Amino acid sequence: MNPCIPLLLLLPAAAAVLAPPAGKVVVVLLGPPGGGKGTQAEFITKKYGLPPISTGELLRAEVEQATPLGRRIQGVMAKGELVSDEIVNALVEQRISQPDAARGFILDGYPRTVEQARFLDTLLPRKGFPRPVVIVLKAPVEAIVSRLASRGRADDKPEVVRERIAVYERQTAPLIEYYTGAGRHDIDGLGTPEEVFARIDRVLAPKAGR
Ligand code: AMP
Repeated sequence: MNPCIPLLLLLPAAAAVLAPPAGKVVVVLLGPPGGGKGTQAEFITKKYGLPPISTGELLRAEVEQATPLGRRIQGVMAKGELVSDEIVNALVEQRISQPDAARGFILDGYPRTVEQARFLDTLLPRKGFPRPVVIVLKAPVEAIVSRLASRGRADDKPEVVRERIAVYERQTAPLIEYYTGAGRHDIDGLGTPEEVFARIDRVLAPKAGR
């Protein structure tokens, strides 16, 4: 028998393992608190139909509903510190397994630590998703502080905002390095939301086949 034949038979199987799952898109939005991630997630949802997944919102819902988990994390969140990787990773795994996320989703505020990014690297292939498109929204600190001041959320008090920015610089900024060369796109976060979205859309459109 021609020795090439068994090899040729194996090729489709190898391609299925190596090629990213067709038609699915996972977007990771990185950037400082108040940098416009939530607003941009809404724009992406509107055009691409991908659900936004904000770990901050998932966690706030637990606190508001005073679930056992909510009671455990309330103090940490009020101080502007990070909830443990274990808790957040489990919440994300649960959320991306819902039917509305089958074609992909937008992660807003996750990952926040290198540990979470490593977990996501194993979670995505395990659930049949491709590597994420990482969008880093760049915004100077002054712009952030004034945006947060006008938002009025419980953890937007000036002293908590300062802590959240410090936590970002300490724990989340290293992620930008983590994603170097791995599908990372740095986007200028200044300008109107529409202007910023146009920059993001130039990156996403080809990846989503638009
Ligand atoms: P956000 O709405 O993304 O600004 O998050 C609000 C707060 O929720 C943060 O200050 C943290 O206390 C908590 N939080 C949100 N996402 C994460 C995450 N990925 N890891 C740990 N804590 C998080």
